[in-house]
Amino acid sequence: MRTTIGWRAGGDATLQRATIPRRELRADDLAVRVDYCGVCHSDLQAVRAHQGARDHVLVPGHEFTGVVTEVGGDVTGFDVGDAVAVGNIVDSCGICAMCRAGQENFCHEFPTLTYGGTDRRDGSATSGAYSREYLVRDRFAYHLPEGLDPAGAAPLLCAGITVWEPLRALGVGPGDRVAVVGLGGLGHLAVKLSVALGAETTVVSRSRDKAADARRLGAHEFLVSGDTAGMSAGRDRFDVVIDTISAPHDLEPYLKLVGLDGTLSQVGYLGPVTVQTTDLLIGRKKLGSAGSGGRPATAALLDFCARHDITADIEVLPSARVNEAFARLERNDVRYRFVLDLSDLD
Ligand code: NAP
Ligand code: ZN
Repeated sequence: MRTTIGWRAGGDATLQRATIPRRELRADDLAVRVDYCGVCHSDLQAVRAHQGARDHVLVPGHEFTGVVTEVGGDVTGFDVGDAVAVGNIVDSCGICAMCRAGQENFCHEFPTLTYGGTDRRDGSATSGAYSREYLVRDRFAYHLPEGLDPAGAAPLLCAGITVWEPLRALGVGPGDRVAVVGLGGLGHLAVKLSVALGAETTVVSRSRDKAADARRLGAHEFLVSGDTAGMSAGRDRFDVVIDTISAPHDLEPYLKLVGLDGTLSQVGYLGPVTVQTTDLLIGRKKLGSAGSGGRPATAALLDFCARHDITADIEVLPSARVNEAFARLERNDVRYRFVLDLSDLD
């Protein structure tokens, strides 16, 4: 049986080094040596939710870059030695309306998640890229453009694409006003992308601690969510508000920022929310969400980032320090994404 070494959730909320089973190489598979994997807040939530579970193995990791080490017999688009990037979706039905529209992330049969998903062919559970090797169907791997730092590019594949799709779908461009709520992994990439698209971009954060960083990232303005006067001044000002807050919260203050016919896209906390219809009615405002991205948008994002020299602001840690990364992410002590270097697993 093919195996690799990785980090799996133990009975408590920590990750432990373990041998991870991998499938044998299929005709349309790439075997990828995982070099860098971003630490997403979703990984932390998955490990927390897994606490006490004994019935299945959890290996997180769904935004990674690496090098192709083997290709299956039917693979034509990749060669051994190619630098690749893989995100949080590794398969889909390929024939439903969403897949045909290039939105495999919304596949009617639900896309196969990079970890915690179910393989479409053999029904096995997928294990993520906090490991040295990942086997991926060729359609869901992307060539990493030359010039993009492989460590800094890894977070583009989840954090980046998750904010890119709504920015693009909402047609953000020069002259638009965008507010990004929550300056974390998703938020800081939303700022960079929004600025590169030409939008006037404002960061909304809980304190002034990140104000200088926001400016360095290209943001034009900074609002503190608890500052009543500042938030009132921002009322009805934004065409698009991208909300990346990772915890349950009231949407009302952020809907107030949305301008006439504008949209609040809530991509951070994905749970039940209560909305007063009048907060939408006044100003004909729209509330939306988005998650991950389809294959065309993911390829377009990588191309855009290569042209605009955009990667994540990262702190690289050897993968053996993954539990430290989790603890610090939990207390908001990251500027702005941890990336694990998996080479210590050799
Ligand atoms: P992150 O790096 O921890 O950033 C989240 C930011 O939210 C923090 O930096 C903080 O910004 C703000 N925040 C945290 N707790 C808050 C609270 N209690 N109240 C108000 N603001 C708070 O996390 P991330 O990796 O960017 O992920 C953000 C969320 O997106 C997570 O819930 C994650 O699961 C979700 N996610 C969704 C998708 C999708 O497909 N839709 C994909 C990836 C991640 P400030 O310090 O600036 O206030
Ligand atoms: Zn993620």
